[in-house]
Amino acid sequence: MTANSIEEFRLELREWLEANCPQEMRDGGIVEDAICWGGKDWVFSSDAQKVWLERCAAKGYTVPTWPVEYGGAGMSRDQEKVFHEEMGRIDARSPLQSFGIWMLGPALLHFGSHEQKLHYLPPIARGEVRWCQGYSEPGAGSDLANVQTKGEDKGDHWLVNGQKIWTSYADKADWIFALVRTDRDAPKHKGISFLLCDMEQAGVETRPIKMISGISPFCETFFTDAVIPKDQIVGEENRGWDVAKYLLTHEREMISGGGAGLSGGGRALGAVISDTIEEMDATLRADAMRCEIDALSIGLTLERYKDQAEAGQGAGDASAMLKYMGTELNKQRHELMMSAGGSDALEWDGPLGNRAGDWLRTKANSIEGGTSEVMLSIVSRRVLGLPA
Ligand SMILES: Cc1cc2nc3c(=O)[nH]c(=O)nc-3n(C[C@H](O)[C@H](O)[C@H](O)COP(=O)(O)OP(=O)(O)OC[C@H]3O[C@@H](n4cnc5c(N)ncnc54)[C@H](O)[C@@H]3O)c2cc1C
Repeated sequence: MTANSIEEFRLELREWLEANCPQEMRDGGIVEDAICWGGKDWVFSSDAQKVWLERCAAKGYTVPTWPVEYGGAGMSRDQEKVFHEEMGRIDARSPLQSFGIWMLGPALLHFGSHEQKLHYLPPIARGEVRWCQGYSEPGAGSDLANVQTKGEDKGDHWLVNGQKIWTSYADKADWIFALVRTDRDAPKHKGISFLLCDMEQAGVETRPIKMISGISPFCETFFTDAVIPKDQIVGEENRGWDVAKYLLTHEREMISGGGAGLSGGGRALGAVISDTIEEMDATLRADAMRCEIDALSIGLTLERYKDQAEAGQGAGDASAMLKYMGTELNKQRHELMMSAGGSDALEWDGPLGNRAGDWLRTKANSIEGGTSEVMLSIVSRRVLGLPA
């Protein structure tokens, strides 16, 4: 794309954003309460949130790089960068976030049939269907290929039995993508299939897992003679591990977040901290600066990997490195915000909102999507080529 046409694109986009992004959606809010997750039962937090989602979905802006026929805007990488710059310029909230966008969508674009893409992707892009992830099991977390939920071949369908755990928001999701063992005799990585399943069908039950905070996204998901039709497999039978791994690279890239962190509204750390204290001491100032510089370099590294990869492929094995770095940085960022907030930051629902809750949430970053120990292992073997 020429520099001229990219500038034209920027101006058109800027004009559209000015005219269409409601003022209420211009606080960059990426704190939990401000996120629009979509789904059949989604209750919009305001008219502005609904209008913003509808307008963006109509333009394909919820999934800017997906092809137009699947609900995206068909943007090139260059255009996507401009899109994010312009959204950031007016501090626009993301109109929609979901496991469908971050995880299933990229996997379907890569491994799904044309019919599957047409069927599943546009409702994700419009925020009509909410997905959850059925990967982990009580005996299969870091050793994910050990999944035991089994699918028996019944000709035109699989009969699925087993249990998943830590299924975030399963109680709010409409559909689940799950790893199921469909060949018990094959080596563990070779007998898994990647199946799509309606959460409302018979034989699928979710039970929330309570946590000490009183709020919890976690659920256990049970399959008891659940019928999954054969056309709900993504990729080849017994080759689901390839799909699973590919999806994980996108999940890890998403969790890395370029180091921006999941709260603090994505604003510069210095600005968040100076909301709390009038004079920053030299150590805090230096730490905040170091953290911001690291965040920028992770963001740029992510961009570089994306540029190098084929369109839509993501960062591949390097996503483990980005996830590790992004996770550590997010933790540091929140430690700094806690230091700056003093005793006010310790309150669960105090003058600084739920800063303590956000800080504690960062601890989970180094577990979800694969633990830091496992990420370091992947980096050492697959990125650096060190011996096992
Ligand atoms: C906030 C959050 C959301 C989540 N959401 C989902 C979800 O939606 N869907 C889903 O399927 N799962 C989800 N998970 C589960 C997550 O993927 C697992 O917790 C994670 O993969 C780790 O597995 P585990 O808990 O079984 O720990 P284990 O695998 O039992 O690991 C325990 C400890 O041993 C270490 N360890 C294990 N193996 C090795 C090794 N080979 N080398 C070095 N150290 C090792 C680990 O690093 C860890 O410290 C979520 C988890 C969290 C925290």
